[in-house]
Amino acid sequence: MDEYDAVIIGAGIIGLSTAYHIKRKNPAARILVVDKFNAAGQGSTAKSASAFRCLFSSYTNYVLADSSVEFYKHLQENLKIDLKLQWTGYLWLLDEENWGNILPVLESLSEKGLKYKEYDKEDLAKKLCVNTYLADDEEARLMGLKDVYKGVFIPKAGIVDAACLVEFYEKEFLRLGGEIRFGVKAENLIIEPYEPLGIPDEPYFWQESRIAGVKTDKGVIKARKTILAAGAWIPQFLDALGIECFIKPKKRQIFCIPAKNEALKKLLFTKEFNSAGCLPFTILPNYQILIRPFPDEEVFWLGYADEFPRAFKLEEDPQPEKNFYQYAIYQVLVKYFPQFKDCRPTSAFAGLYGINTLDGQPIIFEEKDLIVVGGASGSGIMKADAIGRIAAALYNSEEYALLYGDRKFKVSDLSLKNRRVEQEKLII
Ligand SMILES: Cc1cc2nc3c(=O)[nH]c(=O)nc-3n(C[C@H](O)[C@H](O)[C@H](O)COP(=O)(O)OP(=O)(O)OC[C@H]3O[C@@H](n4cnc5c(N)ncnc54)[C@H](O)[C@@H]3O)c2cc1C
Repeated sequence: MDEYDAVIIGAGIIGLSTAYHIKRKNPAARILVVDKFNAAGQGSTAKSASAFRCLFSSYTNYVLADSSVEFYKHLQENLKIDLKLQWTGYLWLLDEENWGNILPVLESLSEKGLKYKEYDKEDLAKKLCVNTYLADDEEARLMGLKDVYKGVFIPKAGIVDAACLVEFYEKEFLRLGGEIRFGVKAENLIIEPYEPLGIPDEPYFWQESRIAGVKTDKGVIKARKTILAAGAWIPQFLDALGIECFIKPKKRQIFCIPAKNEALKKLLFTKEFNSAGCLPFTILPNYQILIRPFPDEEVFWLGYADEFPRAFKLEEDPQPEKNFYQYAIYQVLVKYFPQFKDCRPTSAFAGLYGINTLDGQPIIFEEKDLIVVGGASGSGIMKADAIGRIAAALYNSEEYALLYGDRKFKVSDLSLKNRRVEQEKLII
């Protein structure tokens, strides 16, 4: 049987970025990508809010996002590949306590040259018609909502179209001679002993063995390296082999509200913050509900990454929950932004985060000829290019990956055995 140099399971943004960078560095290698869906980027990538920011306190977070976003900027501005990237910025609305906690972190980042701008509550109220004072509102008190004290605006942040990015990596990979097969479902990874003895059910623990490819519903695919980039589905494959990866699936939902009246239009097309002429990607105080502007479609996307008691659960087709909007998101949203009063979503969708439960950073490691690339934990779009480059460096057994902009990144820093990532302090 024909052996590939690498078979990649998963044609999401991470699998495709990895495939492209491996092929770019190894033009003669035979690389195959398989996906159970009939097109690229139909897993969590299609469900993303597709926002990005480049201001983080952890170097890992910063360099993964910043180098990826610089690459996307290069594609759009220099190579004229339209990724629908817009510099909307991020706007965090903060209560007094959070502001106090975050100020020292912001000041130290600003000494390193990272830019942010602060807004007073009066200014925010004027610019956004946001309700900054909730202390007299009994319902708001019941929900534990806090007054808005300050706003922090990060200009190097914005939105991009994940589908355009997927298209770029897919096209380039194919142009370089890579192969993709859609509608191919991986069933399990194949384990083989280096020296088969022909005994039943081998290999046994005393035999040296490796992952030799993948068994799919369309047949067996053998490869020198098998690359698992199956997003939230990764643990399904690894649990079966007793390999711990610290990645768990969790549902995340987005609700779409059209800017149907003058007040909402005014909010969506706020001119005060950025050159994109729209509301920044905005995060509400304490519960961190997000408002993602979608100016081209004249809608807002609303979401909230709930933790307790949301289960870690793998769902083939996760569905948005009407009550999650109506009794949770809406109730908080409308207290701060009364413009949304009586607004109901016209559409909604849900996907899965592949959460790295250790530190929320991507995981890239190799074991027995199997390379695992995942755990992007809700920031896979903004970090995809760097993740692909690091996975490609691991494939080539390189100690360092060269990220876009010639920044060196030690490959083992994202492994499990020699992991070295700093805690993120800019959680506002
Ligand atoms: C609601 C929501 C909002 C988000 N917002 C943002 C954001 O604003 N910014 C950001 O950067 N990130 C965001 N993310 C996270 C981002 O979408 C993910 O980190 C990223 O898409 C992960 O890409 P992936 O390629 O690892 O996974 P996926 O896109 O899920 O790709 C995995 C692929 O593996 C395939 N696969 C799985 N099992 C098999 C099998 N057995 N056989 C064959 N193929 C298989 C799937 O079909 C899928 O195509 C968000 C995610 C969600 C759900």
